[in-house]
Amino acid sequence: MILGDYSFGIGDRFGQQGEALLAAIIEAGRAGVEVTPVWNKSHREHTLIGTKPAAVRVEAQSAADSMMWEGVYFVDADHINLKNVDNFIESCDFFTLDAADFIGRPAPREDVDNFIEGAERYIEGSVLSEISDNLTVGEDLVRAIAGRYLAAIKEAGKLYRHIVAKKGVSNFITELSIDEAQAAQTPIELFFILAAVSREEIPIQTIAPKFSGRFNKGVDYEGDIERFAREFEQDLRAIEFAKREFGLPANLKISVHSGSDKFSIYGAINRAIKKFGAGLHVKTAGTTWLEEVAGLALSGGEYLEIAKKIYEGAYSRIDELTKPYAEVIDIDRDKLPLPEVVAEWGAKKFDDELRHDESSGRYNPNFRQLLHLGYKIAAEMGKEFIDAAAECKRIIGPNVTENIYQRHIKPIFIE
Ligand SMILES: [Zn+2]
Repeated sequence: MILGDYSFGIGDRFGQQGEALLAAIIEAGRAGVEVTPVWNKSHREHTLIGTKPAAVRVEAQSAADSMMWEGVYFVDADHINLKNVDNFIESCDFFTLDAADFIGRPAPREDVDNFIEGAERYIEGSVLSEISDNLTVGEDLVRAIAGRYLAAIKEAGKLYRHIVAKKGVSNFITELSIDEAQAAQTPIELFFILAAVSREEIPIQTIAPKFSGRFNKGVDYEGDIERFAREFEQDLRAIEFAKREFGLPANLKISVHSGSDKFSIYGAINRAIKKFGAGLHVKTAGTTWLEEVAGLALSGGEYLEIAKKIYEGAYSRIDELTKPYAEVIDIDRDKLPLPEVVAEWGAKKFDDELRHDESSGRYNPNFRQLLHLGYKIAAEMGKEFIDAAAECKRIIGPNVTENIYQRHIKPIFIE
């Protein structure tokens, strides 16, 4: 199976917005840009909501049927490891191997020595100027990189072969994710990680590094945008060079995770992929849930009350909700409105505070991030929430499509 040049992760926590999401991909096609939809829902989301991976394929297929989608699509077992992969084998054909937990685990001395021997050509000398002008590295640095990553790549290899044994070679797409690591990877690290991936014979088609700066869920990028742009270009060059050097799949491309709402770096990403003719995968899903909350609020009456109830629940359980997301959430608790205050808000006020529009002067990223985590509360509400979201479909659906197409796909791939 081969993933196209441009692909975009879609999906929604409650499996109700499939058609609205696919509509955004169809709109990209109308604008002349082919984007492959990849439906994703992580093990963490399934666990918190109480859903099974099979439900994602059902949603994807039913959206494809009703929208008469004839292109390919994939279902992504997102951020899986050896402990949970078996739940995903049957319904998925895209596997995101999460090796982050194994980064920094000691690798046998012999493995590191072998790696250094194979990497001699890149130590000192001018070969790495393919990645950045005048770039050279010494053996110590390569040794340190090998020491940090070899065990993780080995674990990814085990996981890959476990999937192959069940699904057969070439029957799925492989992504490697190292984005949930403690520290960002430099372009040089990315290059040597790809060398290790090649030695481990994992035919990855996408790789998700951790970039510098913060990629908090559902809000904008925080960090040095120029630095990001520079490193992102070097990452693309590192991948291109690694493909040639190590015989990795010709369509190997970069994958940006937690890509929702990173509006301030979309321009840099767009320019870089165009400049190098590179492919790109972007993984987003989380903000569709926020469109559901906004749609409930905007529908007013009892629906607005449900949106408030979700906030109130999230507010009272903030410690529990933030825990699994500690690396990717930055909430300033002093800036969260009290539930008693929110209780007085009208539909528009609720939507203004939630909507990610920096220019409005009314947007509150803390409120937005907490609601982002509030999907667990909605999941516990069960039928009450599901029915309400279904009843507000006429408001939610078009907003989901517009959010994904206008605010994400267009600036990233098209403009
Ligand atoms: Zn990720």
